Amino acid sequence: MLKVKNVGKAYRDFVALENINLEVADEEFLAIMGPSGSGKSTLINILGLLDQKYSGEYLLNDENYKKTNDNLLSQIRGDKLGFVFQNFKLLTTYSVYENIEVPLIYSKKKQKNKKELIEDVIKKVGLSGKEKNLPSELSGGQQQRVAIARAIVNHPKLIIADEPTGALDTKTSSEIMDIFTKLNQDGTTIIMVTHDEEVAQYAMRTVYIRDGHLYNDEKSVKKNV
Ligand code: ADP
Ligand code: ADP
Repeated sequence: MLKVKNVGKAYRDFVALENINLEVADEEFLAIMGPSGSGKSTLINILGLLDQKYSGEYLLNDENYKKTNDNLLSQIRGDKLGFVFQNFKLLTTYSVYENIEVPLIYSKKKQKNKKELIEDVIKKVGLSGKEKNLPSELSGGQQQRVAIARAIVNHPKLIIADEPTGALDTKTSSEIMDIFTKLNQDGTTIIMVTHDEEVAQYAMRTVYIRDGHLYNDEKSVKKNV
């Protein structure tokens, strides 16, 4: 699915990522853990094609998008990736249905059966009957379900989730992780940032970031930091 080779990133003179190497296979479920400020957001912004200003090489499905223009990039993001955030980032004046419709409006793929696609993902995340509700009328867990439905309505091969359970209680978190697990079993590759060891257990593999360096296990973090 993706390959990161010797990637580095600096903000002015501050080095946020250094010599990052990572491969993620199709249909993998990867957790990225690390303390606040360690470089997790910086890394997933690169993986999600939100940041093109880095050194080294990043290939998504064998393609290098470093020189792709912004318009084309947002299209590629819309079609290939689904994003899920800690704070859901839903449109507050849009209904559940309308929030989920947004990626289809911007998609280059011509979707004939839009309504069916939307109803299908609403069912998948367990929100049938809530189509007309506003986000403010839903619980945090339900709002995250809407965000997940929005992320998958285009059937992307890759989902990038930044602390998707960070704002949720333990029981709701495990319900949300069950949805991610099901999506992964159905063939979607998932990359998830989390602070929570229990949440990371749902992934097949965990990598750790400390001070802009990536480690494959806790032992090598402790040895090197
Ligand atoms: P995390 O997601 O692990 O909390 P970030 O990737 O957000 O970490 O940040 C890594 C480091 O880079 C932090 O020290 C942060 O302060 C710094 N940083 C992040 N974004 C910027 C920016 N736009 N300008 C300068 N420094 C930044
Ligand atoms: P999180 O850790 O939840 O990802 P942060 O507080 O690290 O959030 O960052 C929030 C935003 O602020 C990000 O867009 C990041 O790039 C930016 N940022 C973080 N640290 C700095 C910094 N030192 N200078 C400028 N921008 C920063």
